[in-house]
Amino acid sequence: MSFISEIKRRRTFGIIAHPDAGKTTLTEKLLLFGGAIQEAGAVKSNKIKKGATSDFMEIERQRGISVATSVLAFEYEGTKINILDTPGHKDFAEDTFRTLTAVDSVIVVVDVAKGVEEQTEKLVEVCRMRNIPMIVFINKLDREGKDAFDLLDEVEQKLGLHVIPMSFPIGMGYDFKGIYNLWEKNINLFSGNSRKDIEETIEISDLNSKEIDELIGEKAANTLREEIELVEGIYPDFDREAYLNGDQQPVFFGSALNNFGVRELLDCFVEIAPKPRPKQSEERIVKPEEKDFTGFVFKIHANMDPNHRDRLAFIKIVSGMFERNKPYLHVRNNKKMKFSSPNAFFAEKKEIVDISYPGDIVGIHDTGNFKIGDTLTQGEIINYKGVPSFSPEHFRYINNADPLKSKQLYKGIDQLMDEGVAQLFTLELNGRKVIGTVGALQYEVIQYRLEHEYGAKCTYENLNVHKACWVEADDIKNDEYKEFIRVKARYLAKDKHDQLVFLADSPFSLQMTQQKYPSIKFHYTSEF
Ligand code: GDP
Repeated sequence: MSFISEIKRRRTFGIIAHPDAGKTTLTEKLLLFGGAIQEAGAVKSNKIKKGATSDFMEIERQRGISVATSVLAFEYEGTKINILDTPGHKDFAEDTFRTLTAVDSVIVVVDVAKGVEEQTEKLVEVCRMRNIPMIVFINKLDREGKDAFDLLDEVEQKLGLHVIPMSFPIGMGYDFKGIYNLWEKNINLFSGNSRKDIEETIEISDLNSKEIDELIGEKAANTLREEIELVEGIYPDFDREAYLNGDQQPVFFGSALNNFGVRELLDCFVEIAPKPRPKQSEERIVKPEEKDFTGFVFKIHANMDPNHRDRLAFIKIVSGMFERNKPYLHVRNNKKMKFSSPNAFFAEKKEIVDISYPGDIVGIHDTGNFKIGDTLTQGEIINYKGVPSFSPEHFRYINNADPLKSKQLYKGIDQLMDEGVAQLFTLELNGRKVIGTVGALQYEVIQYRLEHEYGAKCTYENLNVHKACWVEADDIKNDEYKEFIRVKARYLAKDKHDQLVFLADSPFSLQMTQQKYPSIKFHYTSEF
């Protein structure tokens, strides 16, 4: 197959959802369709049930052994599909944000009864900012839930989307009869039997046909006719360009658990979802079809197995072909590197591959050379943008609890920060180290990992910080800036890249500081 056809047949996406909406179940059903797994239960949920650290450790341990859950690739009717795992738990939101820099589109799963939930709102906002094409899947139709029109309104209002129903439910919960597919113009009858391989799909050329009355009963048939008329009246026609630009979001209804409505979703996805997209770098826009390889690290996975301490850096291929044993330029280090065993990921295994194409993810064994956001190229100086740090929510001083192990401690902290587990800030005033995290859970994780992987011990001390703001000033020589640095010295720190950060202790003090120093800009993310 030609290079160009290889690019065209790839679909790299993430499934985002609030925990429990059905992301794992949907992933599993998609894999079943692709023939990538044979039975249900094969996909491990990486969910944290009680929010306990022990749970997290167990998950990380399992993941360390089978990192395949980070990327699941499979073939479906000639299409190569790459699903990137996006943790739904809020303490790992940052991991998900970073993964979203590597997807070309997303599927958003919404629970029909719970509607739009908090985590979904946050993640969709990030996708909206980046104009990532989104398809919405409303799940659990076998349960009693919200009225379909109300739910569509809720999705529009809370998520700021412009929805286009591609299918519409016939009844719900106990009365759930099936789905009318506006995209394929057929009715799919629900039998509630997930073991059935092939769903019963009936082509409907005319909604007024009496056949529908016979299938679902006269009352339901009339309701359906009215509702479809309404749908067609309210919502514009599907416009693929608008979807690709992030201006329109197709919606499907179904039940992942019952494997119902999933094939429709997949068939439409394969047809409309974007192939690998061009990516903006600091220097220029890079197109997938360019013949020289470029890619970037969006995730680093530590191996929790103490016998195999190396890490796996996940690289999204943006352009050209990535070939085994070919020298590539690590742009930040200005160093050529060769990779003898790049891994590709499939549903149940990972294996060494010789060639990978744009859209694909390869895992590279790393002994500490990579940081999240690093770019690899064939020689050109290119720095991909778009793996920003966000202001953490929690801040604590980290102290060394074993003076004999300070080297190990600093090495451990350094590597964990490269993996993106948390962010390190060094106070300008006294050089003390502060760890910022999105969730409180990370502190225990860091402590555990420092001890088990690096043999170092640490303690924490609370620090009252509301937000970390990256400081931008046009002129660092003017008096206003000099005064800011002097007056706020206690609140200033450097991040890992030596960028200046203002640690505001309350919303009020942040506001006061902004008013007092109008020429200085304060950003909630490291990229501006
Ligand atoms: P995740 O946290 O988003 O990965 O959610 P899971 O896929 O683990 O699903 C959460 C729970 O919802 C599990 O108990 C699933 O069995 C259940 N579930 C998923 N899809 C459906 C569905 O279509 N109908 C019903 N009734 N339950 C579902």
